[in-house]
Amino acid sequence: MATSRSKKQREEPVQGPRPDQQPLRRPSEQQRKRAAELRVRLTRASHEYYVLDRPSIADAEYDKLFRELQEIERDFPELLTPDSPTLRIGAEPQSQLAKHEHLRPMLSLGNAFNDDELRAWEERLVRMAGDDVAKSGYTAELKIDGTAVALTYENQVFVMGATRGNGIIGEDVTVNLRTVRDVALRLHESAPRGRIEVRGEVYFPFDRFEEMNEARARAGDPVFANPRNSAAGSLRQLDPAITASRPLRFFGYSVAAPDGEELPFETQTELLDTLVKWGVPVAPHRKRAKTLAEVEKWAHDLEHKIRSELNFGIDGGVVKVDSLRLQEELGVVGGREPRWAIARKFAPDIAETKLIAIRINVGRTGALNPYAVLEPVEIGGVTVSLATLHNEDLVRDKDLREGDWVQVKRAGDVIPQILGPIPERRPKEGLPAWEMPTKCPSCGTSVTREKDEAAVYCTNVACPGRQLEGLVHFTSRGAMDIRGLSYARIQQLVGEGLVRDPGDLYALTREKLLELEGYADKGADGLIAAIETSKTQPLSRLLHALGIRHVGSIAAQLLAQHFGTLDALVSALADDILGVRGIGETIATGVVAYFSDPAGRALVEKLRSRGVNFKEPRAVVAGGPLSGQTAVITGTLPSLSRAKATALIEAAGGRVTGSVSKSTSFLVAGEEAGSKLEKAKTLGVEIIDEAGLLRRVSPSATSSA
Ligand code: NAD
Repeated sequence: MATSRSKKQREEPVQGPRPDQQPLRRPSEQQRKRAAELRVRLTRASHEYYVLDRPSIADAEYDKLFRELQEIERDFPELLTPDSPTLRIGAEPQSQLAKHEHLRPMLSLGNAFNDDELRAWEERLVRMAGDDVAKSGYTAELKIDGTAVALTYENQVFVMGATRGNGIIGEDVTVNLRTVRDVALRLHESAPRGRIEVRGEVYFPFDRFEEMNEARARAGDPVFANPRNSAAGSLRQLDPAITASRPLRFFGYSVAAPDGEELPFETQTELLDTLVKWGVPVAPHRKRAKTLAEVEKWAHDLEHKIRSELNFGIDGGVVKVDSLRLQEELGVVGGREPRWAIARKFAPDIAETKLIAIRINVGRTGALNPYAVLEPVEIGGVTVSLATLHNEDLVRDKDLREGDWVQVKRAGDVIPQILGPIPERRPKEGLPAWEMPTKCPSCGTSVTREKDEAAVYCTNVACPGRQLEGLVHFTSRGAMDIRGLSYARIQQLVGEGLVRDPGDLYALTREKLLELEGYADKGADGLIAAIETSKTQPLSRLLHALGIRHVGSIAAQLLAQHFGTLDALVSALADDILGVRGIGETIATGVVAYFSDPAGRALVEKLRSRGVNFKEPRAVVAGGPLSGQTAVITGTLPSLSRAKATALIEAAGGRVTGSVSKSTSFLVAGEEAGSKLEKAKTLGVEIIDEAGLLRRVSPSATSSA
């Protein structure tokens, strides 16, 4: 069995000076200046990336500058200063969040940008460990482009979670991590009973990220730069309700135990298999490889094939020596990177091309969305010819003009983004500024822009552009998920006059479809079956599918879980809707406006008459400390707002209701609690205060009290 106790580490053989290196060579003034300049630039970029979660330069550019500084420092060790970014991991923890010291340091990784660099890494390993490297072999894993966290379990229960921070001290984000649905609140009973740390990466899935950015752009909020930085930013919120409203996910990839404690695996492959058995999700596409040649082939497939199929970002693969005993012996380089692992990074995912035109797409809510038509360019093996521009303000802020040369970034499946124009390549005589059209390009109606909104709208509900997009959205995977209805097929159904709104889909028959071009028996049967199945989708999906202004999938889930049925939501007042955690005024106004509109009500009735489900099944966070319990909150709590207390209870698997009854599990009572407190006393319902609640949602607080 492998133990996590430190064993004697292998010494790197002493090497003479590199052949090209004169022992007494001194740096020139220019090299000295360059090193200082790189230190400043990299330190600033790290702060923007790790602390502000708002990078100003691309990762590939950062990696290039980092490599340059490493090379100068290697050639001239006198230029290596103690504060050099090449000696650091991440950034200092933020002051507002509590600090947490990791069981063992959380390290960074060295990089290999091509196969030659990967082979050079293997040569270094073989110089130190000889045949043991071949005996061990490797594990190759996806390098998830998220943010690293360490989850502490005691007696198999999740008690604390922290960010990597500076590698030694991280930030305590326990309450936020409880809201991440993949973070197991209790491990399977086969997991060790003592204290262990499960390490891994929190990430933001692409589809959810795009949805969120679109909603933010519509509301005029700044859009997030990329899924990685928004995952890190979402996790480091001071308010767990904000984290809870962002659909973060988690993959585990390592386990640490206190010195002397044994762990039940001997290889990285076994470690990953065991994590799965304990209930910790592990990233797909991992590979146990006997030789580096197998790893190279895997990395090639990863970059050119697998990457584009994933719904989350990766910035390469991680190759690890499989034997955990050998990992320990190989140890760490410079206190920063394990010697036994390396990141195999991809070629940069940024390219330069020409912005041919800025066109408009009319969305389902009537929003006019500008997009860029680009001269086709290859990025990461995929040809890109379109990029999203979100809204008028974004085009203006970036000062994009038709005819400009622009930098385009594409990460996996995320819709390509224009980073900005390249000013040096703009013609000397200049280019005219772009103007948003004043009439809808689909129906010609004059457009409006509401106060505090970034989007411009076509207000014509019968606008053919809106109807088509509304149906495309209604049937899409994240909404009612009607498979077999491509964009072209929806266009055909609309064009033939068979479908105008989503209710019409449920009146389609096999016979009607067979009259259309391109439908045979099988296709028609399949589509009718898919439409029939969609009738049973939960209310949250239906609400999202209706395309109510400002109601994305997350707001739809919050509303569906709170109201339980569509009828309850339709008859709710704006105040009732505002009482739902995570729902603000903009969404509440959008919902009320939709259901007050006769067209919205008519659609609801049409869907009802055709048998579409209007109910939401109750969600339960399995394994949470409050799973299955119902709580009521009353009075003013000393430090928690209602929303925060509710978020904590829900993240721990409990449910919060508005009134006390015999089935209430407990009442959380603060200052000036009134009739609910009296009722709880009469019914004999348990009454606790804020401190009691915090102990229940976080068992660690009990043990440290
Ligand atoms: P890293 O991201 O290159 O590698 C270490 C991290 O990889 C670990 O902390 C872990 O979180 C992650 N990881 C993901 N999957 C893993 C797996 N399967 N096994 C092990 N680890 C896994 O190193 P870093 O120190 O976090 O960051 C450096 C990188 O961040 C740079 O290479 C650069 O691309 C980027 N960066 C960019 C800027 C910028 O301004 N754009 C600034 C700083 C850093």
